[in-house]
Amino acid sequence: MWVDESTCIGCRYCAHVATNTFVMEPDLGRSRAIRQDGDSTDCIQEAIDTCPVDCIHWVPFESLPSLQQQLIRQNLQARPQG
Ligand code: SF4
Repeated sequence: MWVDESTCIGCRYCAHVATNTFVMEPDLGRSRAIRQDGDSTDCIQEAIDTCPVDCIHWVPFESLPSLQQQLIRQNLQARPQG
């Protein structure tokens, strides 16, 4: 699965539900999927369902490298705290 970090609002819901999959990226304050096999499919689906802005997506495994390149190119800025 893949987090569209440009849309993520940093609410941390997904990281609380699927603790082995999503972590909050410390500099940007946005969620990132660090593993593809860390939690059960049901658990990951629950995390996806809990996302208020629907920015977590199931994607084919082979799409991940190009999505990661895209993320680097986006050069996201940190969200303001508070
Ligand atoms: S639930 Fe959605 S908006 Fe909230 S941190 Fe996770 S990906 Fe970001």
